Amino acid sequence: MKEITIPTIEKIKIDEFQKDLVSWFLEEQRELPWRENKDPYRVWVSEIMLQQTRVDTVIPYFNRFVEWFPTLEDFANADEEKILKAWEGLGYYSRVRNLHNAVQEVKTSYNGVVPDNPEEISKLKGVGPYTAGAILSIAYGKPEPAVDGNVMRVLSRILMIYEDIAKPKTRKTFEAAVRKLIDHEHTSAFNQALMELGAMICTPGKPACLLCPVQSHCLAFEAGVQSELPVKIQKKKTRDVPIVAAVLTNEKGEFLIHKRASEGLLANLWEYPNFENHSSLLHKREFFESRFQEMYGVKPEITESLVRIEHVFSHLVWKVDTYNGVVKEAISEETLREQQLKWVSEAEMEELAFPVSHQKMMKAYKEKECIE
Ligand code: SF4
Repeated sequence: MKEITIPTIEKIKIDEFQKDLVSWFLEEQRELPWRENKDPYRVWVSEIMLQQTRVDTVIPYFNRFVEWFPTLEDFANADEEKILKAWEGLGYYSRVRNLHNAVQEVKTSYNGVVPDNPEEISKLKGVGPYTAGAILSIAYGKPEPAVDGNVMRVLSRILMIYEDIAKPKTRKTFEAAVRKLIDHEHTSAFNQALMELGAMICTPGKPACLLCPVQSHCLAFEAGVQSELPVKIQKKKTRDVPIVAAVLTNEKGEFLIHKRASEGLLANLWEYPNFENHSSLLHKREFFESRFQEMYGVKPEITESLVRIEHVFSHLVWKVDTYNGVVKEAISEETLREQQLKWVSEAEMEELAFPVSHQKMMKAYKEKECIE
């Protein structure tokens, strides 16, 4: 493979850069639960969680996760309902399924030990170049790059790289940069320092250059162009999906819930009955009642409007008008089974995993936050 050259690297005094970056990290790093030790399983879990949300949000999820599944073996043996519950609210549920699948593979094919080389670790499901690099460098001290959006932002500024970071192939340029810059004695601290710098100081928008430990090495700072970088060309817009949903109860006070398909968006999570609504003819609640009857054979009574929720995915936005109501007639057992519907008590519902948007519906239901 052709070697990628980055001409601006020649301008960096690599030894001094490493020293300034690593010593700053060792002194200033935040105390985070996954930094307590270098167990590759914990590093792996934390890195997958951190790919989808902020550190502050991840901390309680991570703590609960390692309490429920303290070892790789415990997680490998867990059932799907429980792992989805552990991930409930974090989003991107395919990631926890891939993690589960990969951990089972480690248990069976690698004797329960996470592989310590790029070839084997990269074959595990859901382990892309970033996760592989993070585990290998943080847990095993290998000089591998772990390049995510944060690291690309930081290095695009330090090295004044104007490549579009929205393009997948640009990552290779930054991986080549890390391979040149990484401190072989402190691989874990070096990679984590780049991530930490991106999270705390070299942030999007206006970086806090006056506080930056590597300001004297930063070519963008020297040229005064740090706010122009990184170059990121916006992807095309997301698509809106109008949805009508309802929290429905029966005469026993049970809630009707639906299990999503086992493939695709939010697979296997539970939700309240809902339908995509592209009809402009019917009022939303009438649309819901008639569609529900068409699908499940009985007509619910919608009583009030609860809340409007917007939930943004990478490619679409759900715009959900939510109601509450009752179902007085019995839905046949056959329909319940075939349509993956279930009546559950509030306590039973708490054991199941719901997408964030549906958790918000229940919250609104409990608060009876009427908007009409
Ligand atoms: S000097 Fe500013 S732009 Fe350069 S790495 Fe530091 S915070 Fe980022």
